Amino acid sequence: MKSVYLDNAATTPMAKEVIEVMTNAMYNNFGNPSSTHAFGRSTKALLENARRSIAKLLNCEPSEIIFTSCGTEADNMAIDSAVELLGAKRIITTPIEHHAVEHTIDALVKAGKVELVHVNMNSEGIVDLAHLEQLLADTSKKTVVSLMHANNEIGTLLPLEKVNELCKKYGAIFHSDTVQTMGHYAFDLKKLDIDYITCSAHKFHGPKGVGFLYVNKKAKVQNLIQGGSQERGLRGGTENIYGIIGLAKALELAYTDLEAHQQHVQQVKSHMIKRLKNELPGVEFHGTIEPEKSLYTVLNVKLPATEKGSMLLFTLDLKGVACSGGSACTAGATTGSHVLRGIKADTSRPNARFSFSRYTTIEEVDYAVDVLVEVYQNVLV
Ligand code: PLP
Repeated sequence: MKSVYLDNAATTPMAKEVIEVMTNAMYNNFGNPSSTHAFGRSTKALLENARRSIAKLLNCEPSEIIFTSCGTEADNMAIDSAVELLGAKRIITTPIEHHAVEHTIDALVKAGKVELVHVNMNSEGIVDLAHLEQLLADTSKKTVVSLMHANNEIGTLLPLEKVNELCKKYGAIFHSDTVQTMGHYAFDLKKLDIDYITCSAHKFHGPKGVGFLYVNKKAKVQNLIQGGSQERGLRGGTENIYGIIGLAKALELAYTDLEAHQQHVQQVKSHMIKRLKNELPGVEFHGTIEPEKSLYTVLNVKLPATEKGSMLLFTLDLKGVACSGGSACTAGATTGSHVLRGIKADTSRPNARFSFSRYTTIEEVDYAVDVLVEVYQNVLV
């Protein structure tokens, strides 16, 4: 049976070149980067080269990159720092942020440290910028805005530059969860001058369990993990050196021929949209499918109503098509998607999130559509 992986927003397969640099370092560099002898120094050099390489790709200072264990940790660190160190007393966000952000904010609200305000969005998850400006115009409380660059379930994009400009105009701190866009869009951080963004390597063919927080040198950051002086004292613990090397390589590969990757994946997505519209009457999409407003790697399909909708993902899996309903991080949860609830979507109809990578082929998407149509005709009737 054919096996097709269309769940790249959950995680991506590692690139061969990434595995090569990691295994090479595993064979040759075991020293602790904090050791001052030659073994340690050679590993430290790899670590700092990785940081420099990432900083160069994003046009920022190496000292603005703090390696973390994942995107979740980086999001936690940014939001906690904005509140605990920079003194934010109000958080403006949406109900469709990733749980890494949502639950961090919930904890701060519960502890009575901040007031939570939701900015309006439409049913596609597009943030109402006029409402955001109206909220920001009240400058009586120090404010942090936390809005994701692209939603991991429905793919809706945030106009990052515009939101950043608004935050600057009213003196608010801006954190954006860029976990789904890092490695998929170019960032010029000197030009953008945003406070905090985050990264997770496994979303762009790097290893799992490693990410980073970008902290603008004008902003501040406080550690979540106490310990040694690693990461300039901002994150105690011996560094995940192989993960970090893999992250840097994956980012380098992602930004080599970025436009060609973008075009290819958008073409794959458009092909799937076209075929679904033609072959599955009544199909619609959650979020928007307008290319300028939608992450090109994600397509969330609102499928025709069927009483057997709960069997959909299971049936697709049996036929070799891997996709997800909602976020992979909550797969198995019975509460449904907080994102679909947040945009007040019609959840009586089954939905499937297909997500693509630069390795996804048109043939794979054709197979998935063939299976989906066949499942609708023969299994879910
Ligand atoms: N933020 C977004 C938008 C994500 O999609 C994810 C992972 O799915 C995360 C944060 C968390 O990243 P990690 O799995 O590295 O903790």
